[in-house]
Amino acid sequence: MISPETIKKLHELNCEDVARRLGLEVNMHQAHCFMHQDKRPSLAFKNNLWKCFACDKGGDAISLVEEKCNLSFVEACTWLCEQYHIYMPSTNLKNTKKRPKLRHRRTLVIDREGSRPDFDGDVASAIINLADLEAKGKEFLFTERKLSAQVVEKMKIKSVEDSTKMKEILMNTFDEERLIKCKVLKRDNNKIQLTINIPSLLIPYFDRTGKLVALQSRYLGTNENIPRFKMLCNSRKQLYNMVLLAKLQEGNKLYIMEGITDCLAMLSAGYPAVAIQSATTIPETELDKLSGFDLVMVHDNDKAGVSAFYHLHRSLLRYGCRLKCATIPALFKDYSAYYLYLKK
Ligand SMILES: [Zn+2]
Repeated sequence: MISPETIKKLHELNCEDVARRLGLEVNMHQAHCFMHQDKRPSLAFKNNLWKCFACDKGGDAISLVEEKCNLSFVEACTWLCEQYHIYMPSTNLKNTKKRPKLRHRRTLVIDREGSRPDFDGDVASAIINLADLEAKGKEFLFTERKLSAQVVEKMKIKSVEDSTKMKEILMNTFDEERLIKCKVLKRDNNKIQLTINIPSLLIPYFDRTGKLVALQSRYLGTNENIPRFKMLCNSRKQLYNMVLLAKLQEGNKLYIMEGITDCLAMLSAGYPAVAIQSATTIPETELDKLSGFDLVMVHDNDKAGVSAFYHLHRSLLRYGCRLKCATIPALFKDYSAYYLYLKK
């Protein structure tokens, strides 16, 4: 079904790059193994090969995708072709036999996550409750992006525009070590500094029950060396606006947006929407929560957006969900741009 030429191309792909696209953190050609509870990195990469020295498992890019995503050979090849824009004649995926699921896959995922520090919900709640939505935040959300004030209020979006004030309040509420441990403060040459970039929006993530599960900042300044988005308080990858799911009925339409600002624009336009953080940040372990809804993805008009759609499409198939795709007119780079055009 897949030509030997295509398989050869996929076999020759750089495994380290593939691993990164799968969300593994690779340092010095090594990563923590996803198949066993790995304290020290046992997964090694060399050119087009990978191997875990503890599990004694390894192979090429195709087998890495098969193992990591629990996909069949054909599915893994399809995913790689989409990722690397390798032409592949159309295949009939319906007839591919699915490999039996790896046993204990779920526990392994949890174990791996468990080795990371926990999300500090108390500190995150305090930050969100202490902060206001200040001038620069308002300017970005309302003047620049024309978002609905009602939506912004409901999503409890705030901003931090004065680091001294925020630092002082936090240090009066929590002890210093805890704030350093959850990476809200850092010690730099014996000086204590706030790690949140100023000015930034503060974006809280709530789960289906309304519990705060993550906090993210969105930098509003002009320094190009500062990354735009940052997860705070040891937050993990999450889907945004999951609290909406409690209000929907099974079979209802639900839009999946690429990024928070697109999600806010979609909500402002009156549509039910959740979001992945970015094209490359797909929380695999959260996706089962989306099953049962009529899912439509609105991705950016670029290669990364299209890849994200295929990735999400394939991941959701495992939960029996068929992801549809809504296209934005080609003139606009993303939904936010289209939304602004409609607002004019
Ligand atoms: Zn291993």
